[in-house]
Amino acid sequence: MRRRPLLTALAVVFGLTFAGHQVVADVRTSAAASAEPAAAAAEELRPLTSDCSGGYVVLTFDDGPRQHTGALLDRLRDLGLPAVFFWSGHNVEGRGELVRRAVAEGHVVGNHAQSHADLTTGELPSGEQVSPWGDEQIREELRRASELLVAEGAPQPELYRPPYGAVNQQVDDVARELGLRLVMSFGRDATDNLVDSHDTEGVSAEEIAANVVGPLRDGSIVTMHDGLGQATLNSIAALQPIVDAMNERGLCATTEVRPDADGRVLEPGFVGAQVPSAAPKASAKG
Ligand SMILES: [Zn+2]
Repeated sequence: MRRRPLLTALAVVFGLTFAGHQVVADVRTSAAASAEPAAAAAEELRPLTSDCSGGYVVLTFDDGPRQHTGALLDRLRDLGLPAVFFWSGHNVEGRGELVRRAVAEGHVVGNHAQSHADLTTGELPSGEQVSPWGDEQIREELRRASELLVAEGAPQPELYRPPYGAVNQQVDDVARELGLRLVMSFGRDATDNLVDSHDTEGVSAEEIAANVVGPLRDGSIVTMHDGLGQATLNSIAALQPIVDAMNERGLCATTEVRPDADGRVLEPGFVGAQVPSAAPKASAKG
C-alpha cells in the first residue's frame, strides 16, 4: 500500500507528459487500483457495455451521504452504473444537494434509519442507549429518515436496510407499516445471493473487488459503503474491476430489488439477525 501514492503521482505525471505513449497505459494499469481522487482525471474508465444476457445485479451503498458521495456519484455516472443507496437521516441533513443529484442521475435512495441506531436494541453508534425502546421509537427512527429524504426531493422510500443488519420481526412489522421493505446486507449462506464486499474491514480495493466479483451472478445484491475515509475511496476504486467482470459475464446493473432480498432472516422461527463481529459497533459493517 505504501507504494500507491507514488504510483499515482507517477501516473499523473506520465499521463500529462507522455499521453498516448504505451508507457502511460502500463503505469495507469498499476494506478488503476488506487483510490486517489487526483488520479481520476488521468484514468481512462471502461464503462458498462454489457448486453445484459447474463442478467442483472443491484449495487447498494450504505451510510451516506458523506464526504465521498460526490466522488462516488461521479464514478457511477462515468461507469454507467445505477445504484441503490441506503442513507441515514442524520447524514442527509445539510446534504440535500446530494439527494437531489442521486435521484436526478437515476439512483434509488432507501432508508437506513435516522441516527444509524441498532433498531433491535436502540443502541446508538455512540454506544448510548435509547430508553425506553419499542415500536414508537423504531417508528420514529424510520419515519424521520424517510421524511428527510422526501423533503430533499427523493421519492417516498420503499426500501430499508437495518443498520448493522440488526433486524427482528418487531422491527420489520413497524417498517412494513411505513411501507418499507427489508433489503439485507448479508445472507445466511451463498444461496441468498447477497454479496458482502467487506469494504469496511480495512481491505484494499483489489480485495473488495475480489469479494464482489467472486460470487457475482444474476440476481446478486452487492453491499458496499459510502462512509468515511479510505474505505470508501477503495470501494470507489473497486468499481472498475467489478464493471470489467460484469462486462465479461453479460451482467447489467439495475435498481429493481428482487422481492426476496431479506436474506431469509424473517422466516418462521427467526429471532433476530446481527452481524457477528468482534469489532466495535461504530466501525462494524452495516
Ligand atoms: Zn450502516
